[in-house]
Amino acid sequence: MTLPALTGLTPETLAAWLKEAGEPSFRANQILAWVWKKKVTSIGAMTNLPAALREKLTSSFRLAALEHTHTQGSADTTRKFLFRLHDGRYVESVLIPANPALYGEKSDRRTLCVSSQVGCAYGCKFCASGLAGFTRNLDAAEIAGQVLAAEQLSGERVDNLVFMGMGEPLANLDALLAAISLITGAKTLHLGARHLTISTSGLVPQIRQLAEHPQQIRLAISLHGATDEVRQQIMPINRKWPVAELFEALDFWNARNNQKLTLEYILIQGVNDSLEQAAILARHARRIHAKVNLIPYNTVEGLEWKRPPDIHCRAFRDILKNAGVSATLRLEKGGDIDAACGQLRLKQELGEGIIASVDAK
Ligand code: SF4
Repeated sequence: MTLPALTGLTPETLAAWLKEAGEPSFRANQILAWVWKKKVTSIGAMTNLPAALREKLTSSFRLAALEHTHTQGSADTTRKFLFRLHDGRYVESVLIPANPALYGEKSDRRTLCVSSQVGCAYGCKFCASGLAGFTRNLDAAEIAGQVLAAEQLSGERVDNLVFMGMGEPLANLDALLAAISLITGAKTLHLGARHLTISTSGLVPQIRQLAEHPQQIRLAISLHGATDEVRQQIMPINRKWPVAELFEALDFWNARNNQKLTLEYILIQGVNDSLEQAAILARHARRIHAKVNLIPYNTVEGLEWKRPPDIHCRAFRDILKNAGVSATLRLEKGGDIDAACGQLRLKQELGEGIIASVDAK
C-alpha cells in the first residue's frame, strides 16, 4: 500500500494527526517549516524532531508525492520537469524564465506551468495531452508538490503559476482548490493568489463555481475559435457549452472578480485564423474587457495542422489592436509549451508501454 504524502496535509489535518499520535501541537509548525520552507528531501532531515516522531512520520507518510525522473532544458531556457507518480504514471511541469514582454526588461520572475490530471478527457484537437485520453485526476499533494519540487530542483522561487499543463484543471476542481490552499497558505508555500492563473477549455458550471471562490485567482479561457462553427472543429467541449453560454459565465465571473480575464487563441492556418474570426474575437474581448494572447500553432508530431505565416499572425493581431483590445502575439519559435504540454510525458509512457495498454482511446 502506498502511504499518503506529507505534502498533501493541510496545517489542520497535520495538527489532527499529531493529536491522534499523542504529540504536542507545536510540532505541526516545525514539520510544515521543514517541508515547505526548508524544502527537505527526507523526513530524517527534520533534525529538531525527536527520533521517535520521525519514525512515526516515516511509517505513516511518504514525504513527497512526486519522484523527479528527468529535466529537459537548462537554467536560462524553459525547463520541463518530468515526475513519476506512485502508480507509475507521469506528469510534467514547465518552468518558464522571465518574459520581458510580460514583466518588463529587468524582471527575473519565473512562471511554472502545472499539470492537474494525467491525460485529459477533453480532446482539444491541437493538444498532445488529449492524444492519449484521460487516466486520472491528480490529488492535492501531486498538484502542489509540482511547485515545491520545481523550487527544490531549480533552487529558485516560483513567482507565478499557470494551471495550463496536462489536464483540464476545472474538471478536477476539488483537488485543485485543496492544492491552491497549500500553495497560498502562510504556513505552506505562501504564494499570492493573484499570481495564480487557471486555464480552462470552458467548463461553464465550474467557471461559475470558481467565480464565487473568495481568493482572487486569475482565469484564462482556451478559446481558439470566436464562433461555434469554428470553435467546435477544434474543441469538442464547445458542443456541450457553446460560445454564448461560455461568455454568459464570463460575465458572471466579471461581476464577482476584479482580475482581468485572458482569452488564449492558438492561430492555426486555414482553421481559425480568418480575419472575420479576428473581428468577432475583438468584439467578444471588448465586451468582457479581456486581453487576448495569440499563440501561433507549433507543429505537434502526429497532428496535421500548420502555423500561419508571421505576416498573417500580425494582421490578425492588428484587427484586435485597432478595435482597442490588448493583444499579445509571440512569434518566436521553439516555445512549444502552450500547444504541446503533454509531449514529454507521452514519449516517456509510450516508451514504457503504459499508454498502449491502458490509455489509448
Ligand atoms: S488543451 Fe487542455 S482541455 Fe484541451 S485536451 Fe489539452 S489539456 Fe485537455
